[in-house]
Amino acid sequence: MPAPRHHPPAAGSRSLLPAIAVVAVALAVAMALLLTRGDDAPAPPARATTTTAGSPSAGRAPARRPATVAARRARERAAWPRRGAVARRTRVPILMYHLIAAAPAGTPYPELWVPAARFREQVDALAAAGFTAVTLSEAWDAWHGDGRLPRHPVVLSFDDGSLSQVMAAGPALRRHGWPGVLNLTLDHLNAKGMPRWGARRLLREGWEIDSHTLTHPDLTTLGPDALREELAGSRRRLRERLGVETRFLCYPAGRNDATVRAAAKAAGYVAATTVQPGIAGRGDDPFLLPRIRVEPGTTGAALVRMARGEASAPPPGAAGATAAG
Ligand SMILES: [Zn+2]
Repeated sequence: MPAPRHHPPAAGSRSLLPAIAVVAVALAVAMALLLTRGDDAPAPPARATTTTAGSPSAGRAPARRPATVAARRARERAAWPRRGAVARRTRVPILMYHLIAAAPAGTPYPELWVPAARFREQVDALAAAGFTAVTLSEAWDAWHGDGRLPRHPVVLSFDDGSLSQVMAAGPALRRHGWPGVLNLTLDHLNAKGMPRWGARRLLREGWEIDSHTLTHPDLTTLGPDALREELAGSRRRLRERLGVETRFLCYPAGRNDATVRAAAKAAGYVAATTVQPGIAGRGDDPFLLPRIRVEPGTTGAALVRMARGEASAPPPGAAGATAAG
């Protein structure tokens, strides 16, 4: 991967804002959280709440950016036009990505690699077509609670965990103020896969992190104890290592059956994403949410058609795709 492995976390975080600015940010967060009536969002708002609860002098630099991002997001959510019954029946395309980099020669699954320039083209095309990225949590809260949605919502999900998602996907989404959804395999949370500072950076930028199990097994092959450990254990590990409370699971390679789905529910998840093509909605089995596979050959215009439901995504199993992911 071309990206540097040892990029310093939170560059420029040493400088301090005047205390008055910190107080202003904390107040803005508090007001925004009130406006969204406790809208259940992932880690960044939780961190913001912590900042708000502390004294102004506790608003040290590392907590400043998440508070700002969370406050901005809360203001955006409050202005989204789809609400109530309209939000509940809004279908949301969930895009599926893996690595955001050029495929190395001879890699077994080249379709999992979307080069950074192609990814930017796709994201810019979605934005130009009027789409707004949301997290799975935001979609879920609109379908099942009182959350709002933008006019044309889309979820961009990234599986497994790799530095390319921090170095290439992150900046491309940041240009639009968009969050991504990282489906993290806990075994990838290390310097060779997704470094912990990278996961934290994504959280600071408003990303959601969901479970993609501990070790990425075919869940349908596991006995009950191993299944429970992969599902409940990964949720626990996300909490312990990143402070993330996730409600969502992504089945490795989409592999699931009735036993796996029941175990996911027992482990505390409310929904799970698959590799079955389609546009997700409230009417779907929540443990069988479809996604749209995005490949390196997918142009921005083609992706817009797929997200609108005007063109079908590549079927699962195309070019061996089901074996990976
Ligand atoms: Zn995977």
